[in-house]
Amino acid sequence: MDFVEQLKSSIDIVKVAGEYVRLRRIGATGRYLGLCPFHQEKTPSFNVNQTRQFYKCFGCGAGGDVLKFVMEVDGLTFPETLKLLSERHGIPMPQRPEYSDSDSRLRGALHDMHAIAATLYRNALSGPHGAEARAYLDQRGVSADLIEAFELGFSDPQGQAFRGRLMFPIHNESGKVIAFGARAMHADEQPKYLNSPETPIYRKTSTLYNLNRARDAMRKANRAVLVEGYMDVIGVYAAGIKEVVASCGTALTNTQVRALHRHADTVVVNFDPDDAGANAAERAIQLLLDEGLHVKVLAFGGGAGDATNEKLDPYEYVRRFGPDAYRAQLDGASGYFHWLADRARAKFDMRGADGRMDAFKFLLPAVQKISDKLERAAVASDLAGYLGVEPGLVLDQLKRAATDRHAPGQVGVRAVASPSSNGAPQVQVPAVERILLNALLSSEATREQIFPQLPAELTASFVSLEVINALRQMAEAGPVHFAALDARLSEPGRALLHDIVSADEISDEGECLAQAEACLQGLKTSFERRRMEEMRARIRTAEREGNLTEALRWMTELQRVEEEVKRDA
Ligand SMILES: [Zn+2]
Repeated sequence: MDFVEQLKSSIDIVKVAGEYVRLRRIGATGRYLGLCPFHQEKTPSFNVNQTRQFYKCFGCGAGGDVLKFVMEVDGLTFPETLKLLSERHGIPMPQRPEYSDSDSRLRGALHDMHAIAATLYRNALSGPHGAEARAYLDQRGVSADLIEAFELGFSDPQGQAFRGRLMFPIHNESGKVIAFGARAMHADEQPKYLNSPETPIYRKTSTLYNLNRARDAMRKANRAVLVEGYMDVIGVYAAGIKEVVASCGTALTNTQVRALHRHADTVVVNFDPDDAGANAAERAIQLLLDEGLHVKVLAFGGGAGDATNEKLDPYEYVRRFGPDAYRAQLDGASGYFHWLADRARAKFDMRGADGRMDAFKFLLPAVQKISDKLERAAVASDLAGYLGVEPGLVLDQLKRAATDRHAPGQVGVRAVASPSSNGAPQVQVPAVERILLNALLSSEATREQIFPQLPAELTASFVSLEVINALRQMAEAGPVHFAALDARLSEPGRALLHDIVSADEISDEGECLAQAEACLQGLKTSFERRRMEEMRARIRTAEREGNLTEALRWMTELQRVEEEVKRDA
């Protein structure tokens, strides 16, 4: 067997992809679904098929076998991918020229260089020149275990690049050293931090410090703690919170946010309490919300809603109050909204109407970005409390903004064109179907009430017939999971479902039922109207043909339906 085939046959794509993407099994067919690592999405469309050993994203079209997956997700060349997988799975790789090219050789050399440098820095820290650095770490409370765990080192004062600095190796997600962060140990040394320049193996904007160690814990806890600096990571890690990462030497980027989302749904932002930290946190919150993550903020900034009376970064907090206190603070971290509201208060004069309106405008985008309806409703009510206005007023504003965005039609009257992302012909989903389906998808109580009252004849002409039928079947069998529903549909059905869901308006549980009932009534009325029209046409035909028996039969039937409609109204 060819080496490539041998390699592929001895590894499982579900296991490999599962290290980068949280995959959920769908049914018993060997299919898995998760959030795509190659494009930004909130509902999973990344499919992995175990039987056929391939992946396919219905969102961006990415797809292929396990080798292509690793190449793309890790940004490796084909030979590098073979090398990585063969090393990881203990399959000896033949030394043949076709398994290496100049690009791979360069990157291989860079990896080797970094591994060697990391060893040299570590040796220097434990050697005679490292005495001052050891004393510095000791005085800052970094134990020998932590020095070992984070592979900390020291750069020789006589060296060329980094001189007399504390060295933090930066790893890629697979755990290879790709760069270094270098911290000055004296206040007069500037800058405080220096980073390796970008190389073919190191891109600042897509690297998160400590992700290689944190990712398993992130999945387990379904949470990530995002801090600013290397020392913060080490401090939080020392407090027993392994799911901690930092975006070092750069403002948080979309790529980094996506990397977080591949492993967890909640992110706790714990930045420095100074102005720069607060501004960075403000920006990070918006990016995290855009990605559909749940966001919490922990602040030790001495502010009204803050956990301490003085300004402390996460590292200092753990040092001062200990691991238990930090863990308790983390578990009790409040939603980002309270933190943002404090920012708004500091920025705007909340005594005047203008100031409060400005604060409202400042906070509104963050509220609108929350994809979870119940959470959004709760935050909207908090927002009202902060502004000292009626919750109804805030909800009205939110709805108006949502209406402006989606421009939905009235029930049963207007149709909304569904955007077609993949060049498929555009399908019009009538508003009544869209609203009914959203209500049914959002609320179990609504499904329980509405489905028994919704005869198949009322939905027979639905554009989204496949979607509503699949939903009905699932609801009758047990709990409904979006991913499972998604997986049941054909490709056009799935496209419709995504369009329907993305055109969703704000509604809470109570509203769902009311909306669904209104839709049901609308469907019944138009169905009866159509039926009566049909009967009148038959009566006219029968009269024209002189078939009195037939005409009378239809007239009796029409009368019966008219009475029925009158009774229901
Ligand atoms: Zn995708």
